[in-house]
Amino acid sequence: MTQRVTASDGNKKISRVRVAVRLRPYLDKEDEKGEGPCVRGLDKQNLEIVNWRNATETVKYHFDAFHGPKTTQQEVFLSSVKPILSHVLNGQNASVFAYGPTGAGKTHTMLGSAEKPGVIPRAVREVFNLVNARDEDEGWDYSISMSYLEIYNEKVLDLLSPNSQDLPIRQDKDRNIFIPGLTSTTISSFSDFDTHFVPASLNRTTASTKLNQRSSRSHAILLIKVVRTSRVLPHRQQTGKLYLVDLAGSEDNRRTGNQGIRLKESGAINLSLFTLSKDSLGGSAHSVMIANIAPEYKYYFDTFSALNFAAKSKMIVNKPFTRETVAVPVLPVKRAREEHEAGGSGS
Ligand code: ADP
Ligand code: MG
Repeated sequence: MTQRVTASDGNKKISRVRVAVRLRPYLDKEDEKGEGPCVRGLDKQNLEIVNWRNATETVKYHFDAFHGPKTTQQEVFLSSVKPILSHVLNGQNASVFAYGPTGAGKTHTMLGSAEKPGVIPRAVREVFNLVNARDEDEGWDYSISMSYLEIYNEKVLDLLSPNSQDLPIRQDKDRNIFIPGLTSTTISSFSDFDTHFVPASLNRTTASTKLNQRSSRSHAILLIKVVRTSRVLPHRQQTGKLYLVDLAGSEDNRRTGNQGIRLKESGAINLSLFTLSKDSLGGSAHSVMIANIAPEYKYYFDTFSALNFAAKSKMIVNKPFTRETVAVPVLPVKRAREEHEAGGSGS
């Protein structure tokens, strides 16, 4: 197998990270003083937040999309996520990140509930629909697999293999990010996905209550890999990866007084996420960031900094490209060496 980057499609196209903000509904129980909301939407792209320097003024923000408190899970999916999914079938990477303070709706957005399923179940279902709708005559065979990991305190944990230890993050000579030893499970349908995903998510939730809100300080990363192989020689093979990420809470641990170990954790979290991000954010992917915010005053400063971070992220530029390998007839020794060199690059 030789790995190269094709110049055929998307290579010169530049795609900016799309940034959407989702404001969750106002919750009485989050507003003990009865102050009401401090953020509100203006239209489909704009919102405003009370100015802390002068409460009679507001600060306005403009984003690719603003999803107000009445926005349904389906609307968020259709407007912010569905448009990037087809790239994954064409050997390109795509990613969706939920960002924002703990309590602002990241898990609701990504996972949702049985009654209100979020981005993850909708996106996986759609990937299967897209593959099944592909024309046989195009001559590709598709295979889909999943990995599910958590980055906590600079440790990479395999949620599909709960007894596994910390895994390393590596980069091969073609700058593919991969994690040796990470479980990759082939899935043939949405219900097959659910069978593996549901118990793995429960693993994470159970662990979080035991370990003092661990889920708010860890990143959960679901990776859906779509490999397509040409039916004719030389059996071209393209790999597209979809990252669906529920990020650690964005709250400032210095300000909230979570010092010591927690401060160290939030710093460490960022290093491993940064490495992985080369593959998904600001790297080779079609990326969407959904910044989740809450309307109550107790979130005010975390909301403010989340909005500023989201505004900065609009400037990140991606250059999506197609990763392709070609099976060429070579001498066995050489093939073995090349396979060794490319080893695991598909993770
Ligand atoms: P995070 O993962 O960012 O900490 P959660 O997703 O757990 O936040 O949301 C906090 C609470 O708010 C949960 O009870 C969740 O069900 C509720 N919530 C969040 N977003 C919405 C929404 N858009 N509509 C209704 N309830 C929401
Ligand atoms: Mg959460």
